[in-house]
Amino acid sequence: MSTDKTTILIVEDEPAISELVSFTLRSAGWSTFSVGTTAEAWEYLQRRSPQLILLDWMLPDQSGLRFLSRIRSDRNFNEIPVIMLTAKSMEEDKIAGLDHGADDYVTKPFSPRELTARIKAMLRRKSPEHAQSSLMIANVYLDPVSCSVKVDDIKIEIGHAEYKLLKFFMAHPERVFSRSQLLDKVWGDHVVIEERTVDVHVLRLRKVLRNAEGLIKTIRSVGYMLSEK
Ligand code: CA
Repeated sequence: MSTDKTTILIVEDEPAISELVSFTLRSAGWSTFSVGTTAEAWEYLQRRSPQLILLDWMLPDQSGLRFLSRIRSDRNFNEIPVIMLTAKSMEEDKIAGLDHGADDYVTKPFSPRELTARIKAMLRRKSPEHAQSSLMIANVYLDPVSCSVKVDDIKIEIGHAEYKLLKFFMAHPERVFSRSQLLDKVWGDHVVIEERTVDVHVLRLRKVLRNAEGLIKTIRSVGYMLSEK
């Protein structure tokens, strides 16, 4: 399903490199969106939430490093993994990038294989809900391989949306998410749904969880969280 696809934002002003990177990532199964300036990247971030950003160092309107600082100081975007693409191989530049909040860097010229491997490793580390490992919290067990959920060792019937919501909550326990964050992260941002829809799915989720329903907490005027406390 396209809404489940991981999207990577490519910020790179050299068309040849941008095309090569985009082709490489699409071949690996990801969706991509390419822009050539930080202004376009910023504009994109207002509308969509990519799972990862590939950011060139030298860009026409602002350096990648400045843009990185801007992302990292904004609470809406500060958790998006960023990999810097850089022609610079000087050690101090790499350190500067990491100091400004880059999660990793790839030095040009890079092989498509290396880039793909780095991105995979980053997504595994940063977006556990994209990983295929089983999750267990209290008496709830979720197996992403068979898309099944057990409560007290008994398999339960669960709808697709409730399953995705539960998987997201279990991958990020003890953290509060607003309705709009849940819409972005669970349903994907290409879908137009009202925030009230989240409430409906949370209600349904609690219902199917039976005696484990108390795990899903309502945080008044903020949103929801999964908590054992
Ligand atoms: Ca450049």
